[in-house]
Amino acid sequence: MRVFSFICLLLISFQLKAQEYAYPYSFFYNSLMQGHYFFSQTSASGGSFIQHISNKLPVADSLFHTPGNALQLHYKNGKGGKWQANIYRQQKRGVDNFQKAKYLSFWMYVSTPRGDNIDFLQLRLIKADSSFSESVSINAAKLNEWYQVLIPTGAIYNFNPDSFESIIGISLAQSNEDGKEYVVYVDDIEFLATENSPAMLDKAVIASATGYALHNDIVWNKPDNNNIHLVKIYRSENGKDFLPVGIQQPFINRYADFTGETNKQYSYKISFLNSSYKESALSPAIQVATRSMTDDELLTMVQEAAFRYYWEGAETNSGLAKENIPGRHNMIASGASGFGIMALIAGTERKFITRQQSIERFEKIVHFLERAKTFHGAYPHFMDGPTGNAEPFFGKRDNGADLVETSFLMQGLLAARQYFSGNNDQEKRMRERITAIWEKVEWDWFKQHPDSKFLYWHWSPDQAWTINHNLIGWNETMVTYLLAIASPTHSIPASMYYSGWANQDSTGQKYRSAWGQTRDGSMYKNGNTYFGIKLDVGVSNGGPLFFTHYSYLGYDPKAITDRYTNYFTNNQNIAKINHAYCVLNPKKYLGYGDSAWGLTASDGPFDYSADEPVEWQDHGKIAPTGAISSFPYTPVESMKALKHYYYRYGKFLWGEFGFRDAFDLTNNWCSEIYMGLNQAPMTVMIENYRTGLLWNLFMRNEDIQQGLLKLEAEKNK
Ligand code: CA
Repeated sequence: MRVFSFICLLLISFQLKAQEYAYPYSFFYNSLMQGHYFFSQTSASGGSFIQHISNKLPVADSLFHTPGNALQLHYKNGKGGKWQANIYRQQKRGVDNFQKAKYLSFWMYVSTPRGDNIDFLQLRLIKADSSFSESVSINAAKLNEWYQVLIPTGAIYNFNPDSFESIIGISLAQSNEDGKEYVVYVDDIEFLATENSPAMLDKAVIASATGYALHNDIVWNKPDNNNIHLVKIYRSENGKDFLPVGIQQPFINRYADFTGETNKQYSYKISFLNSSYKESALSPAIQVATRSMTDDELLTMVQEAAFRYYWEGAETNSGLAKENIPGRHNMIASGASGFGIMALIAGTERKFITRQQSIERFEKIVHFLERAKTFHGAYPHFMDGPTGNAEPFFGKRDNGADLVETSFLMQGLLAARQYFSGNNDQEKRMRERITAIWEKVEWDWFKQHPDSKFLYWHWSPDQAWTINHNLIGWNETMVTYLLAIASPTHSIPASMYYSGWANQDSTGQKYRSAWGQTRDGSMYKNGNTYFGIKLDVGVSNGGPLFFTHYSYLGYDPKAITDRYTNYFTNNQNIAKINHAYCVLNPKKYLGYGDSAWGLTASDGPFDYSADEPVEWQDHGKIAPTGAISSFPYTPVESMKALKHYYYRYGKFLWGEFGFRDAFDLTNNWCSEIYMGLNQAPMTVMIENYRTGLLWNLFMRNEDIQQGLLKLEAEKNK
């Protein structure tokens, strides 16, 4: 009997691979931007019309179902004409596991008497191949109040419940020719798994409220209830009249309410909503006031908000960083985790958390890393938190080691090894455990051949060297060579810095001119002058700004002088070129200028892309991390950008983890995600600018010092 139950348990434990968080498959809750909604498209012909701004639906700020807005459809059903409004789903990286689609639900508000037409609107689903589902007639059931339209998806002809993820939007269109004009609002468009969600039992309680210059941070106790669909936030300016101001996803227990006013008193309450939008009782109120802040306090505020991505937003099993939030809840991104580790150290030093909280988190981190699947000591790009296995998120071939991501992770761990310098057993043990992880990485394995000039990015047991991507600078991978040279156990010869990273034969030249689309810098060294700024090293005119961040969060670029340049100076010049380009703004994008600059890799309205200060790689989006993570290089221009982003654009750009990933004013778009690779560099580089903390810690490593000596000897050969 005992044996039997043991086997059963074993079976169960294998089957109980932790479920990935299931998002509702949603089309619209709110537009971050006022004016018009980027993810919409209108058209009209004949005698029909629909109100639009640049062929997009207007955003209604004062009338909504969930705060802060809804979409407005103001149209006329012309004879022989047709109007149409499409609302598209925002694709978000890693938001790829969904609740079932049993019902299509949306909320509607009709503000014009409808006459006798039962057939009020036509609704169709838009599929990925641009085809439409059969149409469904929507009636105007009520006037001047919000009501839910709930359509069983089974009733939509040719709807396949197993492939609802191929539906990219919904289309509302004219259904009769009554010649009348109507104003209709729609909000909260989504698929729901149930018709009647259970009532909420959880009591909403606000734990704290903190005031900043133009916003208040509201934090509530995490609800222990899977039926919470959204959290609703209310604000009052007189302590009596509470108005709904925002909603939050249930897995985040804070909200940044950007009021736009300094030195003002506010009260807040919250409630929970189930998927039927039935509301729990409101929480007790909490008072808070915004206050004026010094530049120094602003820096700390930005550091702390981005730090929270790694503290509160961490993957549960490992305490490490997710790729993006919202995104996959179980997936760890190794490089972002390395950056996050350094953000945790900066956060500890700034007392956002106690040293005890910090070491406990690091114990969780190393406990996970000691057990996670490695490949010749190197970690994959992405890992599954519950199992520690590689997660081939970027494709089947990328199912093993990622040496670059590993180097970003090790950069963080080596900074932590220096940080926990205490003589107590806990900190001593931490240093030993990090040393073991670091010394296990077989950097020399990634040469592929014993006499290789290059390190290679990927390797896996079944794919071996299929991806075959050799590491050639100038880009973000310098630290990979520097760590490989510095390894006390599996080092590569320092000559590979010159033969691989700074390679100047045809391999290196082809590689650089392929991605740079220019011969500038194809020999590694550059030597040209851009916008009056001389660039010693760099492809094209320097590339995206993350090249100057990722490798130098811990590794102090001031310490690196090779045969061609000093990398603090060179990074500084790359930042200045980026700034000068944005001031010039040759493509005339909205918003670019002296205090809005910094082209780099980020989310975008159409796609994630690594933007550069050249016209063919400038897509009109600005990522706050570009300028802000450049603080040590360009403190004046970075501070201007930070203040501009917060004071001018905070309403859409500032959220619970600080600045959102990117914005594009030309397209009236702001990213709804935060990215693990982009938040921590802000915290860490501001800290390096203020105190040099991470640079000093990291450079104190004996192994790193030895590596630098080897590099120095090689330079003079
Ligand atoms: Ca809304």
